[in-house]
Amino acid sequence: MSCFLKALNYTDEKKDEGEKVMDCPRCYHGLTTITVEGLEVDVCKGGCGGLWFDHFELQQVDEQHETKGEALIDIARSLQVAVDLSKRVYCPRCDEMILKRHFWSPRRKIEIDECPSCGGYWLDAGELYLIRKEFATQKERDEEFERAFAELFGDDFAIRGNLNDPTANKAGFLTRLLWRNV
Ligand SMILES: [Zn+2]
Ligand SMILES: [Zn+2]
Repeated sequence: MSCFLKALNYTDEKKDEGEKVMDCPRCYHGLTTITVEGLEVDVCKGGCGGLWFDHFELQQVDEQHETKGEALIDIARSLQVAVDLSKRVYCPRCDEMILKRHFWSPRRKIEIDECPSCGGYWLDAGELYLIRKEFATQKERDEEFERAFAELFGDDFAIRGNLNDPTANKAGFLTRLLWRNV
């Protein structure tokens, strides 16, 4: 373990007995739970290097300024594991639920897999790095979603300006919801 990871209070442990141990939806290797600064993420360490985030966990590490995400960028993986990224994958937490593939943002660069049932996200190796590069801050992301909202529905519906305005935040939230189904 590097000093860098130690500094981030990185621990690496299997789940407690009794708790459901999940398998990687991509390569079926057992997932390992790692904890970085209080955030628990299930990773395919020694397998394909993918990551599973439960609902709202990903939002804690998806921007560059969120330092705990740095420890998750490069999960040790096996070069022997070949994965077919074009295949749809099942949610590792829910039974028989196929993850929905959609773009992470209106920039349409990175596609990720989201569970329509539990709201968790599966990221393949390298995708967290790309996501973190896309927006430096929450403000930048909100502005991008606002722009996309205006493009979709016209300026009449776009609420621009002060992002601290609760109405503007509502517009951003709505766009995010709608975006998944565009
Ligand atoms: Zn895997
Ligand atoms: Zn699920």
